[in-house]
Amino acid sequence: MIPIAKPLIGRTEIRAVKRVMKSGALAQGAEVASFENEFSRLVGDRNCVAVNSGTSALQVCLLSLGIGPGDEVIVPSFTFAATANSVALVGGFPVFVDIDPDTFCIDPSLIKNAITPKTKAIQVVHLYGLPANMIQISKICKEYNLLLIEDAAQAHLADIDRTPVGTFGDAAAFSFYPTKNMTTGEGGMAVFKSDEAARTARLLRNQGMETRYQNEIVGFNLRMTEIHAAIGRAQLKKVEAWTEKRIFNAGTISKSISEEFSPTIPAGFRHVFHQYTIRVPERRNEFISFLTEKGIGSSVYYPTPVHRLKPFQSALDLPETELACQQVVSIPVHPSLTSKELKTIISALQLWQKLTAR
Ligand SMILES: *Cc1c(COP(=O)(O)O)cnc(C)c1O
Repeated sequence: MIPIAKPLIGRTEIRAVKRVMKSGALAQGAEVASFENEFSRLVGDRNCVAVNSGTSALQVCLLSLGIGPGDEVIVPSFTFAATANSVALVGGFPVFVDIDPDTFCIDPSLIKNAITPKTKAIQVVHLYGLPANMIQISKICKEYNLLLIEDAAQAHLADIDRTPVGTFGDAAAFSFYPTKNMTTGEGGMAVFKSDEAARTARLLRNQGMETRYQNEIVGFNLRMTEIHAAIGRAQLKKVEAWTEKRIFNAGTISKSISEEFSPTIPAGFRHVFHQYTIRVPERRNEFISFLTEKGIGSSVYYPTPVHRLKPFQSALDLPETELACQQVVSIPVHPSLTSKELKTIISALQLWQKLTAR
């Protein structure tokens, strides 16, 4: 079976882990600091704070920007639950807004209607690796004096006209979970515009301490280990080449299938194809079984809108989100696909199109 995702762990990662294990220094230290420095090159040299997961990174972003109890944060509902969980975990309320059906990202034209006197921030998601419409969303944030946070968990190296994601907002969160475009095993990076917010994030990560036993605030233990940081440093050297391969694989598929089937890429946007996601308006389950029979793995991200999940139970009507949940299927485009596997995927899609053509 061609898997939907495959973490790429090579000799350099294994050597890096060995080096750290032999050094005996395992808890957050020099490797983590180097990883932060090296990662900052991906985000216009912004201040980076490594933590133990993408979800922790989101939480640290919110808390470091002063978002807390009673604050409303506008989020999409068509996303992974962590986007909304992070808001709820700091005591805030996620306010769900529908998506643009062409890009699957939050629809900027619907945001203003969701703003109330309690709104503090907009937390966008660059879903599947495609940047949200940051130009329009930044304008809304300025007009209404709102903070802007980017959930960039799926979008390492994505950009709009060469401006990288992670540099549009006041803060951004990346994930290094094994299925993401690069991994540390588990891990995350919080990225900040202001050095002051970054300092707060460093305190929150480590019990509120900068100097040992001089606790300044109440903090967590969200530290990344040296082992995970060493894996991340090795991955950083390869992530650009992997991204180009993802874009190549996606482009090859898009060229071979009908245009209405393939994902939209707005002009000037660099879609890094964390997922290659298509809409199957009819007989989706049959399509998934058809792929399985051909040895092609696939997955539905996401089958249930976050606002319909048990913790958020909301009666909101978000028709494009509901429709996307019923129609989407993601198919493999990860960088370890062979050209033979790519051909298998393309032939299967072409055959399905033929079988279902009217
Ligand atoms: C993966 C993911 C997260 C959470 O990252 P973890 O490292 O798994 O905690 C948050 N938001 C989105 C959109 C994600 O895909």
